[in-house]
Amino acid sequence: MVVGRLLLLLLVTISTRYVAAQRVGEPLSVWQKGQLDIHHISTGQGNAALLILPDGTSLLIDAGAIDPVDWRTGKPRDIPTRPDTMRQAGEWIARYARNALRFRADPAIDYVLLTHFHDDHMGTPRHGIKRAAGGYVLSGITEVAEYISVHRVLDRGWPDYSYPQSMEADSIVANYRHFLSWQQKHNGLTVERFQAGRTDQIVSKYNSTCPVKIRNLMVNGECWTGKGTQTKHLFPDLTGLPLLQRPNENMCSAVLSIHYGDFTYFSGGDIPGVLSFGTPEWHDMETPLAAITGPIDVKLVDHHGYRDAENSVLLTALKPRVLVIPAWSTSHPAPEVLERMLSTMTYDGKRDVFTTNLLQEAKTLNKQWLAQLKSQSGHVVIRVEPGGKRYRVFVLDDTQEIAPIKAIYGFYKAKSKR
Ligand SMILES: [Zn+2]
Repeated sequence: MVVGRLLLLLLVTISTRYVAAQRVGEPLSVWQKGQLDIHHISTGQGNAALLILPDGTSLLIDAGAIDPVDWRTGKPRDIPTRPDTMRQAGEWIARYARNALRFRADPAIDYVLLTHFHDDHMGTPRHGIKRAAGGYVLSGITEVAEYISVHRVLDRGWPDYSYPQSMEADSIVANYRHFLSWQQKHNGLTVERFQAGRTDQIVSKYNSTCPVKIRNLMVNGECWTGKGTQTKHLFPDLTGLPLLQRPNENMCSAVLSIHYGDFTYFSGGDIPGVLSFGTPEWHDMETPLAAITGPIDVKLVDHHGYRDAENSVLLTALKPRVLVIPAWSTSHPAPEVLERMLSTMTYDGKRDVFTTNLLQEAKTLNKQWLAQLKSQSGHVVIRVEPGGKRYRVFVLDDTQEIAPIKAIYGFYKAKSKR
């Protein structure tokens, strides 16, 4: 009898392990209750991260679709969309999300957070090819919502879009506002302004006791102080400031951290931390965050690893074990940034760096570091186990919609309770 029970226990253990096992070449298994999934979706067209909280709540951070024309050179960009060019990035993001959320009877995105108002984070009407029934151009977030329901949007500008200056003349924001008002009227979308310091704007919708906490750290130059919900403003009085010194769009990015058990994830949009000459010190948005954020596990690399991001003060404070670079341009990442991320001069211990993409020019520039990268293309998925004690990283093939697993890393042990 006892032997029989032991045998049964053994069989159950083996079969559970078998179900949970994931192999290279297979599609990623569907999210299970208690897991925290973070899918860095690679379309080649900018940032898009789909998070599935342990209770099943879904959060999409950004939905990029870069301008088809390079604003600096006026020339068309030659960056093909992945998996293929038959669809635009927004539709691919939606299709990826529907598949990842297939455990829900009606897959939907509960929250969208747009970190800031740039094409590689939200799309641009310059795509101009497809329009919604509401008349707005479908690109980035406006296109995502065409293929999967979106319930609530948080951004840095609602409702007047006037900080740090009026965005009336910005065609990206105008198209997006058109989208918001149509979706509010016809599909019950709600919109809110993301506010620093709060932990109650993005919450577990399906189980309020779920032990996950999302802290809004910074937006529009407003930074959490580390105490309660208190914030301080980092920008000076803007009246009379020379044009070049005014806070730019990247500096206004929404920044947040996600805590689950011993695990912490950090997402900083396109905040800069390395000053270009002539700019005042308050243009460094990373150093103030270093003071209020302890060691973390996984970091989405700021500003795609561009040369003005990931300063050593922030890296030393956060000590990320895993770094994910959402790259789409020849300047992503800059060699000096990759060097800082890989160097033990910034912090001791191991770290694994993944990129969702790497253009040929970036490969040439970063030649000496390439062998140390864990991935050079693909969706990068962080899967945190129930309870938040350990996690793995899956790299998925972004050239096929079924996205078979290319590589598996971990388990990594999450750092510690904070
Ligand atoms: Zn960007």
